[in-house]
Amino acid sequence: MMDLNDRIFFFQGTDLVVPEKIQDEDIIRSSAAGPVEWQNDLLNFAARSAAPVTPEKIRLFDKSSFVSAALLDDSFLLSDEWKRVSIRSILCYAERNDFGFSSDVELILRAYHILQWKKNTVFCGRCGGKNKDSEKDISRICGSCGNIIFPRISPAVIVLITNEDDHILLAKNRNFKHQFYSLIAGFVEAGESLEETVVREIKEEVNIDVDSVRYVLSQPWPFPDSIMLGFCAKYSGGALKPDGDEILDAGWFSRGELPEIPNHGSIARYMIDQWQEGKSL
Ligand SMILES: [Zn+2]
Repeated sequence: MMDLNDRIFFFQGTDLVVPEKIQDEDIIRSSAAGPVEWQNDLLNFAARSAAPVTPEKIRLFDKSSFVSAALLDDSFLLSDEWKRVSIRSILCYAERNDFGFSSDVELILRAYHILQWKKNTVFCGRCGGKNKDSEKDISRICGSCGNIIFPRISPAVIVLITNEDDHILLAKNRNFKHQFYSLIAGFVEAGESLEETVVREIKEEVNIDVDSVRYVLSQPWPFPDSIMLGFCAKYSGGALKPDGDEILDAGWFSRGELPEIPNHGSIARYMIDQWQEGKSL
């Protein structure tokens, strides 16, 4: 029986490396009842030195347990027994509630975020010296000037906007890989409150005004280093007009008449589903 400290994850790009034979829906789901069986294979994979890197221990929130994880270089060719599966795509099979994902998924998101951060903080941004891991917390310290770097977490807001008919605003973003419609979202600027970000992003992207801005829930989104902060807001005025740059199309939609929306596993989908089911946000 594996305990938490034996958990091991290998990543490549924004993908998780898993055995070729495993079905996508079983990658996370199988862990609900107990240990993730495929991770025994991964342990063997690492032990046989088939992997070109040594997994490192990543401390968890309780500070005493950890998971092992490694980021494989993109140039490393996996053997036929292994495949890459996008982390984002497996989130749709993850169990979640109002507080977030199940702990197994949190482990994956945390390990991935920390590894990306370490990869990007090999050298000090202030003096160019070599950084090393802190022994007392999750930070990196420059060996030359003592600069301390903590994992970067970039806040972004995502907003479910309703109008007086209880329709929601959905928009098609130029950067979406798939042709779905989703909620308005954007990064928080330096010096801005979250509520100000909500109002500004909506005005910039679809030209309307909102009020009753209220925080709902959050979701870590380490692609590369965000946390998505979910808000709801009410339409208060202005003519709907997509900016034509980031937002290609936008409209008001009623329950049961939605266009294609994001997959399960995203905070956008969770909020849209809550609204669809008439639950209060
Ligand atoms: Zn330095």
